[in-house]
Amino acid sequence: MNWSEFGTWGRRVADWAQNYHLTVGTRPVRAKTKPGDILNALPVMPPETPEDMEQVFQDFERIVMPGITHWQHPRFFAYFNANAAAPSVLAEFLVSAIAPQCMLWQTSPAATEMETRMMDWLRQSLGLPDGFCGVIQDSASSATLAAVLTMREKALNWTGNSAGLAGNAHLRIYCSSEVHTSVDRAIWVSGIGQDNLVRVPVQGDWRGMDPAALEAAIQADIAAGLRPAGVILCVGGTSVGATDPIAACLDVAARHDLYTHVDAAWAGSAMICPEFRDYWPGIEGADSIVFNPHKWLGAQFDCSAHFLRNPDDLVRTLAISPEYLKTHGHDGVINYSEWSVPLGRRFRALKIWFLIRAYGLEGLRTRIRNHVAWSRALHDRLAATPGFEIVTPPMWSLFTFRYAPADTSDLDDLNLRLVNAINDDGRIYLTQTRVDGELAIRFQAGQFETTQQDVMMAHDVITEIADRLARDKPL
Ligand code: PLP
Repeated sequence: MNWSEFGTWGRRVADWAQNYHLTVGTRPVRAKTKPGDILNALPVMPPETPEDMEQVFQDFERIVMPGITHWQHPRFFAYFNANAAAPSVLAEFLVSAIAPQCMLWQTSPAATEMETRMMDWLRQSLGLPDGFCGVIQDSASSATLAAVLTMREKALNWTGNSAGLAGNAHLRIYCSSEVHTSVDRAIWVSGIGQDNLVRVPVQGDWRGMDPAALEAAIQADIAAGLRPAGVILCVGGTSVGATDPIAACLDVAARHDLYTHVDAAWAGSAMICPEFRDYWPGIEGADSIVFNPHKWLGAQFDCSAHFLRNPDDLVRTLAISPEYLKTHGHDGVINYSEWSVPLGRRFRALKIWFLIRAYGLEGLRTRIRNHVAWSRALHDRLAATPGFEIVTPPMWSLFTFRYAPADTSDLDDLNLRLVNAINDDGRIYLTQTRVDGELAIRFQAGQFETTQQDVMMAHDVITEIADRLARDKPL
């Protein structure tokens, strides 16, 4: 295939994509293939000679599509959504066509300067004060790793990158048990070691870190000759939306001069609605904050907004500038590769520009407000349905529940069977978690094309399949 045929195929792909999005709600949400089905349908050997694009395209529909779980399905209520709103897909199409590698200002000034401006648009949208700046990372995991490396370097007086950790007191990082596993991974990769990740107990409905317990843990570590290095807080944890009391925990960290990072990967998008910011007063005291526009805001994966109160610490930790990367004659420009672990960078800011312009902040807020309202309405209906109990209350658009009819001996087994049967059915897609050791089913609404009817259909499907389970097999 050559570029002269690209337009024909590009139009065909655009039509296919439009039809896919308009009809995706008629497909089963989760792929129904068995392990190995797709692998076995793919030829073992690569072709030696060119193949016809028509055949390639037909095989894409025949082999690939049955093995797709439809993340853009309006009844995808599992995990957290990874929305790809139409304007952001268009921007990604353009970026794929131009294919710039944006590691340095001079390798595409438009990408760097658009990123600077878009991070500031996002800062204003979330109500963060002037002075915060930021960078677009590939994932929240990368942002958290960058923050943990910064904690390590600050605590070691910038000697860790060169001399390693040996010979120093153990560094200690504090978080609750509700943070995402990307925190554990960052601790492993940084060399700090899992044993030095201190889990501070949580309390209350929000399952947030107890600030007094944080203070006590830090003091105990200092007394034991260990070296506190940083605190990681979460706003909207993955399992049940756990949220730490930001202001009180940041106060503790400030008393001990500790670097702080807030993971708001999912819930950060909701902060574009002023009424949902109750959960993070005091956020302006954080050193580093991450949220994923590629989740609830509609910017196609990947796109992770990483805000910094002062980027100097991060840049001092990560910047490395061999001669082949120097940009002589352009002093003072931002080279965003110095703000992240990977060197190469995609042009991610364009999709934010398209997205915000196409919907306006008000359009984005309306979607998020609807998701929260509809999810709460579903919560109320399930809470009033005999046999069901709410396990954790709504945090924005996420809550957990359990099917607990009277005289059931093994609720974990029953609820696992329920969630599996729901997902095999295909009309909706849910996932499970554990709350205080017991299985609970998660519900969250966040897909851009979801309607109130889609959310309410979840009630019908859940109760219908629960009844069937109860009929088919003694509970
Ligand atoms: N933090 C939270 C709270 C999450 O829910 C997730 C993923 O769902 C992550 C971090 C990791 O995000 P990413 O896939 O961008 O690394």
